[in-house]
Amino acid sequence: MKYVGWKPYFCSMLTQRQLFLKYNAQTSTTPLLLEFVKAKGIYMYDVDGKKYMDLIAGIGVSNVGHCHPTVVEAIKNQAETYMHLMVYGEFVQTPQINFAKALADVLPANLNCTYFVSSGSEAIEGAMKLAKRYTNRTAIIAYKNSYHGSTHGALSLMGNEEFKQAYRPLLPDIAFINFNHLPDLDQITTATAAVFIETIQGEAGIRVPSIGYLQALRKKCTETGTLLIFDEIQCGFGRTGKMFGFEHFDVVPDILLLAKGIGGGMPIGAFISSKEIMSVLSENPILGHITTFGGHPVSCAAGLATLNTILTENLVSDVEKKGQLFKTLLQHPAIKQVRGKGLMLAVEFDSYETNKAIIDACIVDGIITDWFLHCSKSMRIAPPLIITEEEIKEACNIILKNIDAIV
Ligand code: PMP
Repeated sequence: MKYVGWKPYFCSMLTQRQLFLKYNAQTSTTPLLLEFVKAKGIYMYDVDGKKYMDLIAGIGVSNVGHCHPTVVEAIKNQAETYMHLMVYGEFVQTPQINFAKALADVLPANLNCTYFVSSGSEAIEGAMKLAKRYTNRTAIIAYKNSYHGSTHGALSLMGNEEFKQAYRPLLPDIAFINFNHLPDLDQITTATAAVFIETIQGEAGIRVPSIGYLQALRKKCTETGTLLIFDEIQCGFGRTGKMFGFEHFDVVPDILLLAKGIGGGMPIGAFISSKEIMSVLSENPILGHITTFGGHPVSCAAGLATLNTILTENLVSDVEKKGQLFKTLLQHPAIKQVRGKGLMLAVEFDSYETNKAIIDACIVDGIITDWFLHCSKSMRIAPPLIITEEEIKEACNIILKNIDAIV
């Protein structure tokens, strides 16, 4: 009791950065340590009042911009009405119904039943279990250089040994094939429960498959009774110039995975399938997949407001054009390639060192970008979809200026 009052006093002597390093678990030894106090639209403001343009939308999350007023209002209204009532799946909760129905309304007919979770990794976990149960098979096919999340199941699907090796043993019976490589489709057989694929690969450095490849994959899965699972956690909800990435390829999955951008900044994920496939989780045993916070009412209200905002503000219609503007402006001998679709882009340099030096210089100039987990020589460009052409020009000028200064 003698020391009551001492700790808070001591803490107040430390800066927020020091407190962050002391009390919050770290994911690397070199966090950026930028200290933001406010975010609005495509901008974030640090503790010294400096304004930063967010060119990565919190890694593909803030598609409608930070603190979109419609989303904020929906969050406030729902928080005042009710928050958590019961674990997912027991009570009839209007925000969950409204969001699930709105998703079904914008999706193909077979994607009519949504299971809400709290993150992308959880959506992956749910889909892995669903595929095993529905097909009574255990084998799964995933892709080299894929990223599906950080939980054990999701990590088991990751196509990069560097990030997995320290956590083995992981799940068995998972094979990895080359992305966009037709001959490897022969590895999908009547023993395969599911193929997990990012419709457009994100952390691989934005890799867009050919239409023919995804259509052949669909055909192979149908022939072998394998569930085709599209991970659109990063590429969904308008990011690529269509509401869903698969619309570019005229291919429909059996299970669709969403998270990140669908909550407008609130945590929520979803795996979506047909009522028929989804029904296997409710019996033998009952409660085949349960979650306390999945479909949190406030997150669902935010999700519905996000979807409505994308639709009513017609945010998807200009995404292709805006992406093209980045591609047109970002031309420089040091830029090897600008890859991607819509506002899901990768700018490739010759090395990680060059890329990192440019990224760091851009941050000093108030532009936030980063690199990709499996492609460290490429710079990520994935701004909120509301970015204007003027802002794109301003961002590109700063990037080009820094390339000139560094290369
Ligand atoms: N799938 C993809 C394609 C992702 O990009 C991510 C996150 N970067 C995940 C899954 C995992 O999502 P979360 O971090 O919400 O678990």
